[in-house]
Amino acid sequence: MLFLALRCVATGRGHEGHSVNPQRVILLGTGTSHGIPMIGCDCPVCRSPDPRDKRGRSSALVEVGGRSFLIDTPPELRLQCLASDVCRVDAVLFTHHHADHITGLDDLRRFNDLQGRPLGCYGDEATLTTLERVFPYAFHHSPDYPSSKPQLELRLIDGPFDLLGVPIVPVPLYHGKLHVFGFRFGNFAYCTDVSMIPDESLRLLAGLDVLVLDALRRRPHPTHFNLEQAVEVAGRIAAKRTYFTHIAHELMHETTNTELPAGMALGQDGQVITFDT
Ligand SMILES: [Zn+2]
Ligand SMILES: [Zn+2]
Ligand SMILES: [Zn+2]
Repeated sequence: MLFLALRCVATGRGHEGHSVNPQRVILLGTGTSHGIPMIGCDCPVCRSPDPRDKRGRSSALVEVGGRSFLIDTPPELRLQCLASDVCRVDAVLFTHHHADHITGLDDLRRFNDLQGRPLGCYGDEATLTTLERVFPYAFHHSPDYPSSKPQLELRLIDGPFDLLGVPIVPVPLYHGKLHVFGFRFGNFAYCTDVSMIPDESLRLLAGLDVLVLDALRRRPHPTHFNLEQAVEVAGRIAAKRTYFTHIAHELMHETTNTELPAGMALGQDGQVITFDT
């Protein structure tokens, strides 16, 4: 039996026939690829007693009309869902295929069980190809893997589309030389793993209430905004509120926030961002 190695193009309107705005977003994880604390590091942030300095790999949950979708499936997905009491996931948007954004994929099984159906997984070609290559047992029958496996439908992002009645605008970003997606829905946008935002994508980010943006550390990095760059870009985008994510161990939550401009702050794991709908 083939396990739903489907590829549909994610365009067109959703099943609901009307558009609704997300009601809240939970930042499930706000850490860089190592997670904070890092293994074997005794720096002040990795040893900090402040729970806001504990960061799982980056991900978010978007809740809308009693349903919800994830952005990325990091390695701590199970722990993040338990910590934020996530009981329902209807779909997953993937920003890109790097390990810290996909390796929790197997935990989606639980939501197959809870909802009794496959989950749509939306991404670009490189991401969908990587998911099939890294998790072949999830997409192809194997006599060596007869037990419980995630049931997923791969859906290629090829322009704006509707998800759970929410219009999703993919925002092309550069993560070094890699093309990745940010996502805008309503007046919220989530842009992690980015080192350059093209002008045409900046235009897609106009008029935001909330922006979640990559800010790795103080020193420059070839594939991520550092804090200085992130603050500069966030100032140009001029969302009413900006939260930084994908944060490394150089940035202590409390002290870093005191130096950020008004309307900007480091995000923290489990943070709930609510909207006026
Ligand atoms: Zn990452
Ligand atoms: Zn450290
Ligand atoms: Zn990445």
